[in-house]
Amino acid sequence: MRNIEIVEVGARDGLQNEKTLFSTEDKLKLINDAIAAGARRLEVASFVHPKRVPQMADAEAVIAGLDDNPDCTYIGLVLNKRGYFRALETKEGGRRGVDEVGAVAIASDTFADKNQGQTSSESVEISKDIVKLAKQDGLSAQVTISVSFGCPFEGAVEADKVLDMVKSIAEAEPREIALADTIGVGGPGQVTDLFNRVREAVPHIPFRAHFHNTRGTGIANAWAAYQAGVNILDASIGGLGGCPFAPKATGNIGTEDLVFMLERSSIETGLSLEKLITLTKWVSEKLGRPTPSAVSQAGAF
Ligand code: MG
Repeated sequence: MRNIEIVEVGARDGLQNEKTLFSTEDKLKLINDAIAAGARRLEVASFVHPKRVPQMADAEAVIAGLDDNPDCTYIGLVLNKRGYFRALETKEGGRRGVDEVGAVAIASDTFADKNQGQTSSESVEISKDIVKLAKQDGLSAQVTISVSFGCPFEGAVEADKVLDMVKSIAEAEPREIALADTIGVGGPGQVTDLFNRVREAVPHIPFRAHFHNTRGTGIANAWAAYQAGVNILDASIGGLGGCPFAPKATGNIGTEDLVFMLERSSIETGLSLEKLITLTKWVSEKLGRPTPSAVSQAGAF
């Protein structure tokens, strides 16, 4: 059995669509408690315009407040070069800042325009430029391909299109490439097929998978990705999440649901289910409603 690395995206993808604004202090508690539960790689903020995503307005303050934990990798999401330079600025004056930037390429033109004011091919070029800049600046960098399994505006996304994007992005040699089902429309067979194809085309770069459970297929898709050889999966505490620019997009797969499924399949994640469930209770109190993940409601076994 291979071990799985889970990237905790709760503080970014999890919160970005929430109307309840979390204070900087609350975000730091979320991040630190996730670390206490075993998370070691975490998406902590995104450098987008605060008018576009108000929940991310305090990105710099969150990053300045992070513990200087040598075991952790802190990721900042950047959609363009302006965002990249904001991420880089967090390191000025000898501060730790972000350890890694996550760039975003988009598999459809309409979503690329709505999400970040680019065409799909521009988003590929910009993400490659960001990887190159990050390398020069001594930062780790990876690229996520959004709407890889379907677009809310254009419908089906051809596997060949994603494959071409992967091949192009691979030229910049990012730390990894993620395929994201931003709106939760992928199915396990599609996931297996697409990951098999990209892994075969670009065997030297690791792949990460990012799923939303909008239509109930998230956990099945995570298992399909594992079966296709993917060792890195995104998940969000409590199953929070959504995308402000993707209609009806709801939660990411819940970290505790993913850990539960993997533990029940004898796969190590390094995360404590008990501590994750405790954290979901705090998140639920903050939001004034239950968190969407199954395990946060049903408990462990
Ligand atoms: Mg997402």
